Amino acid sequence: MALIVHKYGGTSMGSTERIRHVAKRVAKWARAGHQMVVVPSAMSGETNRLLGLAKELAPSKATDSYSRELDMLASTGEQASSALLAIALQAEGMESVSYAGWQVPIRTNSAHTKARIESIDDTKVRADLEAGRVVIVTGFQGLDELGNITTLGRGGSDTSAVAVAAAMKAEECLIFTDVDGVYTTDPRVVPEARRLKTVSFEEMLEMASMGSKVLQIRSVEFAGKYKVKLRVLSSFTPWDIDINEEAASGTLITFEEDEHMEQAIVSGIAFNRDEAKISVLGVPDTPGIAYRILGAVADANVEVDVIIQNLSKDGKTDFSFTVNRGDYAKAIDVLKSKVLPSLGAQEVVGDTKICKVSIVGIGMRSHVGVASKMFRVLSEEGINIQMISTSEIKTSVVIDEKYMELAVRALHKAFDLDQPPV
Ligand code: ADP
Ligand code: ASP
Ligand code: MG
Repeated sequence: MALIVHKYGGTSMGSTERIRHVAKRVAKWARAGHQMVVVPSAMSGETNRLLGLAKELAPSKATDSYSRELDMLASTGEQASSALLAIALQAEGMESVSYAGWQVPIRTNSAHTKARIESIDDTKVRADLEAGRVVIVTGFQGLDELGNITTLGRGGSDTSAVAVAAAMKAEECLIFTDVDGVYTTDPRVVPEARRLKTVSFEEMLEMASMGSKVLQIRSVEFAGKYKVKLRVLSSFTPWDIDINEEAASGTLITFEEDEHMEQAIVSGIAFNRDEAKISVLGVPDTPGIAYRILGAVADANVEVDVIIQNLSKDGKTDFSFTVNRGDYAKAIDVLKSKVLPSLGAQEVVGDTKICKVSIVGIGMRSHVGVASKMFRVLSEEGINIQMISTSEIKTSVVIDEKYMELAVRALHKAFDLDQPPV
């Protein structure tokens, strides 16, 4: 008998019929003798619907200014689906109880809409498990020091599930979703994408941080920090599929490099349409510019991703970087109002129609020429590279958004990701 955490995403919880299906699957695991904690997301579309209502009521107000209320609002989606799942389990003859984040409690910091989990008190959950109940813990939400409800950022139920698994030292955390594992790239964009049986933790971390939304990045960070055994698998198989077969399906995130069976140089391709590019032009090229530009942006709580500074000409240079599209207007505003006048730069320009495409693979460590192959493939497709950033196991380029699918497909093919590993 083991303690197992299941997480079900929005599509998996998308209707009463689907919730019943989840309940039957969870009941199967419980009846096999496992102690079950289940973390559901809101029903698909619900979080967007709720956030849309807020936007309708305050179209011209910066969402930052009412982020506490956004958390009050968005957290209700998970509360509803958790209660529905507990009811469905009871209808299946399983004893079950659901808890909101604040009832557990799952404590977070106060960064509304992107809070980080700080601690989880598992006393109540353990007592219920001991009493033979299936425990449902709402995903995506927590409680800050002041008693406010917080949420963990979009896709945050993954993080709730892994954090609960870490806190309770669960044997395994199974992330049930609408695909049957982690693929070489998003199978919605490249139908030839292949499921990976295993993916190393480091690769998963890069893929998640480069935009592959199958797992929220913080969930992968948690799994790494606390060595949580983590598997991504489908909630669309028949619920009564053999439990051992199910337990071995999908994609396992591995921690040992030599466990990494597939020795591809590039394991996956991620892309991200959520960024925008900002350039500060004609900046005097003196010590401290990067600090003055990016410091002001950071003070406005805007995270910066890819950065480049051009060679200087006549003592002036151009400085470009990317930010999340949601922060674009704020960053431009800060630069125009605070940085331009004091820095004596000429102009701030921006482009929201960009995307970032990344190739990821631990094999890149030991192979040269991988990045240059990427650049060649893109040039053969006539795609202009605007920015480049690299790490030991990834290379990212910023390109025009309209070429995103073309770039991902061409790279997927060029790196033989559609072929079974040799
Ligand atoms: P959930 O609602 O279950 O949390 P998400 O929509 O957040 O599901 O994540 C699953 C989706 O992630 C898939 O439907 C798929 O389109 C997308 N995705 C992006 N990159 C990948 C990848 N490399 N492998 C699998 N799925 C991916
Ligand atoms: N419901 C939240 C979202 O849509 C959290 C999640 O699904 O993981 O982002
Ligand atoms: Mg998700």
